[in-house]
Amino acid sequence: MAATPIPLEVRNIKKRFGETEVLKGLSLKAHKGDVITLIGASGSGKSTFLRCMNLLEQPDEGDLLLHGEEIRFKQTRYGREPADWKQVVRMRAKLSMVFQSFNLWAHMTLLENIIEAPIHVLGQPKKAAIEQAHALLERVGLTARADAYPAQMSGGQQQRGAIARALAMNPEVMLFDEPTSALDPELVGDVLKVMRDLADEGRTMVVVTHEMGFARDVSSQVIYLHQGLVEEAGHPKEVLDNPQSPRLKQFLAPKY
Ligand code: ADP
Ligand code: MG
Repeated sequence: MAATPIPLEVRNIKKRFGETEVLKGLSLKAHKGDVITLIGASGSGKSTFLRCMNLLEQPDEGDLLLHGEEIRFKQTRYGREPADWKQVVRMRAKLSMVFQSFNLWAHMTLLENIIEAPIHVLGQPKKAAIEQAHALLERVGLTARADAYPAQMSGGQQQRGAIARALAMNPEVMLFDEPTSALDPELVGDVLKVMRDLADEGRTMVVVTHEMGFARDVSSQVIYLHQGLVEEAGHPKEVLDNPQSPRLKQFLAPKY
């Protein structure tokens, strides 16, 4: 029997900006249903790592495999870039990202935001895309807001809308970069609830977060980054409840 391909595998990624090496060799394997949380101080490279996973940033070294398919790179005089952008477009359709700043398109209603990519990237018929969008809106608790523009919605509603938009592509892996960090505290819970539901239904997710409760309850693996390297990684019960590295102990200690 052939082994099931791993949805996302990253091998020894390195990335520098000018003189500074920001990622110094990072690897990660997300099997189906894994929820991997990335934690670490500001500037440790969490966002850059996530952005390298869907090639919003080009890693200088290292390999990226989606469902066992390796992304091909070529060297140019400006550095390394994907050898085949069509492959990148195909791969991005399987990998959707939810950002801290919501990123819904301001000039479109929520419904229009959700149906845009399924129609134009996946070629779904409009009617089917709209039906799917309504089902997703129900899942994230936004049935009543289908025709609202982002500016008319709270931050929490916008973020749940952004998650619905990501889900509309039926991605194999979902990447989240601090999805609740820009929210007022009372709006965080609703977004985390949606993310917990996604984890419960077996979605493969990589989540950068400062929400340690979420990380503890939901993750299959926690990775603590320090200055572009993995300082400690493992099951949340080990990493969060029994940290070994002094730096991680300090990072997890209550601040006041
Ligand atoms: P984190 O998400 O953990 O806060 P980042 O990945 O955003 O960390 O940043 C890691 C380091 O890389 C920081 O020192 C940051 O200033 C630097 N950095 C990130 N993006 C860029 C960029 N586009 N150009 C130059 N430096 C960058
Ligand atoms: Mg960041």
